[in-house]
Amino acid sequence: MPSKRKAAPAKAKPPKDPAAGKTPQVDERYACFKLKLAKSKIHRWGLYACEDIPPNRKIIEYTGERISRKETKRRDDRELHYLFTLDNYWTIDGAVGGSGAEYINHCCNPNLRATIIKGHILYFSLRAVEAGEELTIDYHFPKDVERVPCKCGAPNCRGWINVK
Ligand SMILES: [Zn+2]
Repeated sequence: MPSKRKAAPAKAKPPKDPAAGKTPQVDERYACFKLKLAKSKIHRWGLYACEDIPPNRKIIEYTGERISRKETKRRDDRELHYLFTLDNYWTIDGAVGGSGAEYINHCCNPNLRATIIKGHILYFSLRAVEAGEELTIDYHFPKDVERVPCKCGAPNCRGWINVK
């Protein structure tokens, strides 16, 4: 009798979302407080504080692959991307080697701000943040690029992630 052969397992396609199918983790080497990633009401995943954070404290560094303007243009076409513009030439792609900061959602009334210091993107608290709060930042998308509707739910929501 011929032996039965198992069907070859379907070849897994590379996921579009680097975090698809698994809970992304915070890289604690870059976080200054206890933080965690969890589902967000704003969009997919979000970064949350696990402890109270005072104002004006460094929270986390936005890390990732440093890519050129040309490569940024290519990756920008992806449905989901985690690109942070560092300067006129360089962009940090948080999809590769991201600390978890790449999951921070946009909010029109954010509790964090970003500062670029010597080529590092650092996120600081704008105000006191309570344990359990989702961390957010104003993405300040330019007004001359594709407009993205905002559903952050803040009372002062401008309706768009782009600035007016
Ligand atoms: Zn909004």
